Amino acid sequence: MSGCIFCKIAAGEIPATVVKRGDGMLAFKDLNAQAPTHLLVIPTTHVGTLNDAKDPGALGKLLAFARDVAQDAGVATKGYRVVVNTNPDGGQTVFHLHLHVLGGRVMHWPPG
Ligand code: AMP
Ligand code: ZN
Repeated sequence: MSGCIFCKIAAGEIPATVVKRGDGMLAFKDLNAQAPTHLLVIPTTHVGTLNDAKDPGALGKLLAFARDVAQDAGVATKGYRVVVNTNPDGGQTVFHLHLHVLGGRVMHWPPG
């Protein structure tokens, strides 16, 4: 979608530190890391929010890809967190579906 920053990353039009590529999916480093490991997993075609994701199979693939990304980053055994902020009350600021993969430190609960 024109004007979407994550579509531009998927198209290689703006730089990002890509850590893994999958079938219709991409993982890259978050610019403003909130943990020693903070990666974002996106579908390469535009989906605005989790509410707009119509294909449960594709969502399952994204989640499995995030799990593999955590494994590759070396945080799977100690633990990590996968977060999907959705719409303004959920804290979403970039309206292209993304999964945050956070690890490398102890996560706290409840989240803010
Ligand atoms: P959210 O608030 O859940 O929508 O998360 C958006 C995330 O995208 C934030 O953690 C930002 O730091 C991150 N972000 C925004 N622009 C970029 C970019 N160009 N490259 C990498 N991460 C970005
Ligand atoms: Zn997009």
